[in-house]
Amino acid sequence: MTARIIDGTAVAKKVRDEVALGVERLVAAGGAAPGLATVLIGEDPASEVYVRNKRRLSAAAGMQDLHRHLPGDVDQETAAALVDELAADPAVSGILLQLPTPGHLDSDALLARIPAEKDVDGLTVLNAGRLAQGRAALRPCTPAGVMTLLEEYDVPLSGAEAVVVGRSVLVGKPMAQLLLGANATVTMAHSRTRDLAEVCRRADVLVVAAGIPGLVGADGIKPGATVIDVGIHRGEDGLHGDVDFDAVAEVAGAITPVPGGVGPMTIAMLLANTLTAARVQQGIEG
Ligand code: NAP
Repeated sequence: MTARIIDGTAVAKKVRDEVALGVERLVAAGGAAPGLATVLIGEDPASEVYVRNKRRLSAAAGMQDLHRHLPGDVDQETAAALVDELAADPAVSGILLQLPTPGHLDSDALLARIPAEKDVDGLTVLNAGRLAQGRAALRPCTPAGVMTLLEEYDVPLSGAEAVVVGRSVLVGKPMAQLLLGANATVTMAHSRTRDLAEVCRRADVLVVAAGIPGLVGADGIKPGATVIDVGIHRGEDGLHGDVDFDAVAEVAGAITPVPGGVGPMTIAMLLANTLTAARVQQGIEG
């Protein structure tokens, strides 16, 4: 293997330590510890694990755990009323609605009730619009985490060819906006892209978020490229990404592993967003 491994576990720890220090400073400056309200609806086991980790790591960073759980058969009005209650509560700095919500609920309508300044997942239309216009906004956590990894590893972005595979609202679209904001020349690929490998080979920086295990192989890599694998797939032999790691690591210059790459960054950026939200709401730089 020739590629340098981008260690998301280490960078995420560094970000969480910085957040914990920021929380200490905020409190020392007379502010309140940031409050994170995770909202879990139903009993989906994967969502339970994600929410548990978010609660554990936010508490470890000194934040208030303001978690709320609703039964899976809750109606839209009751769920909306909870979001409204959290929106109005000054102790709540950030609201995270764990997705997916049960199928009978309109999650977009619930997200729309989260005030932009408490939208620590960066998923409201207002924050997406601010990002698209290059304005200050709370950024979606996974793409923000990718940008932090690229920064930590001094990956040049200005003028670089960046290719993003996937155009979801959660990852692909905000990822492309962030890379564009960093002056990369951005191409977006998706399921209708003709000759994906040919498009990927243009990339100095390739971000793959397609949700298909091993979608990108060595033939999609420019020698020396930086490859960021957002995909997460649970197989019998552990976790895998959207990139054929072993083959791609022979051609790329740097690569994120799965696990231990982008995954740990997502929660770290959630904590960073929650601290930012608390500082803005309390008017204290900390
Ligand atoms: P998603 O909403 O399913 O979107 C997948 C995107 O990939 C779509 O835009 C789709 O294109 C595109 N795509 C599908 N097949 C393709 C193909 N053969 N060639 C090129 N593009 C293709 O998924 P997502 O939420 O963005 O998540 C993507 C992956 O990242 C998943 O594995 C997910 O588990 C993982 N993820 C990881 C984290 C983390 O913290 N590490 C966070 C979020 C997501 P169309 O638009 O044309 O359908």
